[in-house]
Amino acid sequence: MSRIAYVNGRYVAMRDASVSVEDRGYQFADGVYEVCEVRGGRLIDWLRHGKRLQRSLGELRIVEPMPLNALGLVLHEVVRRNRVHYGIVYLQVTRGVARRDHAFPAPGTRPSVVVTARNANPEKNEKTALEGIKVVTFPENRWPRVDIKSTSLLPNVLAKQAAREQGAQEAWYVDSNGDVTEGSSSNAWIVTKDGRAVTRSAETGILPGITRAVLIEALAALQIKLEERPFTPQEATDAAEAFITAATMIVMPVVSIDGRAIGDGKPGPLARRLREQFHRFATFS
Ligand code: PMP
Repeated sequence: MSRIAYVNGRYVAMRDASVSVEDRGYQFADGVYEVCEVRGGRLIDWLRHGKRLQRSLGELRIVEPMPLNALGLVLHEVVRRNRVHYGIVYLQVTRGVARRDHAFPAPGTRPSVVVTARNANPEKNEKTALEGIKVVTFPENRWPRVDIKSTSLLPNVLAKQAAREQGAQEAWYVDSNGDVTEGSSSNAWIVTKDGRAVTRSAETGILPGITRAVLIEALAALQIKLEERPFTPQEATDAAEAFITAATMIVMPVVSIDGRAIGDGKPGPLARRLREQFHRFATFS
């Protein structure tokens, strides 16, 4: 089956899906994005993702291309046309097409909107979750506005590649205080020996993950204690468990950091439980 993308108002075959070479997304990475999980053909926590998109657009002063409910219809339509049952939907909005100049283009320049969707392999993801993933640390080298979900991901690309080259699946950034901020495409968590879940506060240094926010609500409902504070790679290595959260991975156990095993080197029970329970607390639309 051929894949279909939404590009600026049209549903087109992937091979015909293109934007101008003068799109500011292409020229300057002047855009924002969202990724939602798709389960049973339905979007997970779309409203929260949509609200974060609006915030990212506002922070960058990019015009909202259409109301959120209209954008939601487009996402659902792309999922439907691609027959995605289990996978992801990707949405990108850029400042639009204009003659290359760093400063903003003329008012009235229409933002560009692209939506794609693809199937993922649930068995493969569950197998990864059963084994857990390896993490390496990487010096924080991103701009301070990592709270904006910008398509400017070059530091994240380099960190992820460094992880891959060391046989790991994710890189955890470590800031100048020696604290973990987050992963290159996920939020970072540990579980203390007395069973408290710890993740950095969303105030600084991280993207406020939607999966993180939903998990915080799940923890409250499950009466699991939460600490929102920084932690160091050393504390993480000495912790009972570690895991990451992201829409594409939900809760994914971490079994080693920089080659040093966490606990017994196997996925921890709390991470496993939270992975199983997560969708009870998520919203399907
Ligand atoms: N931090 C970064 C840097 C990310 O790229 C992502 C995934 N987009 C996350 C955290 C997790 O966010 P979410 O749970 O909304 O997918």
